[in-house]
Amino acid sequence: MQAIEPVITVDGPSGSGKGTVCRLLAEKLGWDVLDSGAIYRVLALAAIHHNITDSDESALVPLAANLDVQFLIDSEKGMSRIVLEGEDVTKRIRNEKVGGVASKVAALPRVREALLRRQRAFRSTNGLIADGRDMGTVVFPDAMLKIYLTASAQERANRRFHELKESGLDVKIEDLLHDIQARDDRDMNRSVAPLVPAEDAIVVDTTEMNAEEVFTQIFDLYTKSI
Ligand code: C5P
Repeated sequence: MQAIEPVITVDGPSGSGKGTVCRLLAEKLGWDVLDSGAIYRVLALAAIHHNITDSDESALVPLAANLDVQFLIDSEKGMSRIVLEGEDVTKRIRNEKVGGVASKVAALPRVREALLRRQRAFRSTNGLIADGRDMGTVVFPDAMLKIYLTASAQERANRRFHELKESGLDVKIEDLLHDIQARDDRDMNRSVAPLVPAEDAIVVDTTEMNAEEVFTQIFDLYTKSI
């Protein structure tokens, strides 16, 4: 029996292939997508705009609770445009600086608490694919299927390198590897909602897999779960 508002959670570190597989699953099933990392990134950008430092929890909590952000969903049910305080920030939230600040504000317990309701509000009768770090452990503990994607840090740095190279950016692979390891360390070792597979999650190592293979394996797990 499927839940009335079914959720599939896909957690894992950056570069493990979550974004692509979530998009493919949502397209195939006609479900919505929650990119929870984008919410932390938007908060990070808002903090930068308002000159709030990434450790100032008492200023970040009200900012998180009252964040003036809109996620404009396109017909394919992806989060196609993100508007913060009236400004389209879809591209700006993706840079490395914003990602770094996002992982710092995400380590603050009361900030995470302030963003919980906003994330749970994405749940709907359409069905939801939830992409993040704590989707299966904290935000949607009753999800019908929980996936934890992982890949070696070197492979994740390679993927990011090719992505950035394709968009014309000149970066060093060693710098990317260093950033990925620092972010993993923060995400996995924070006191609240650390990045770990939920007890009932299925762990899929994508180091040796392409996006199509990952999608096929997860879609197969979904079909077996219904
Ligand atoms: O997934 P993405 O790289 O966009 O996420 C940015 C940062 O937000 C992550 O490094 C992580 O620290 C934080 N995050 C989180 N919990 C989530 C999603 C993202 O702590 N559910």
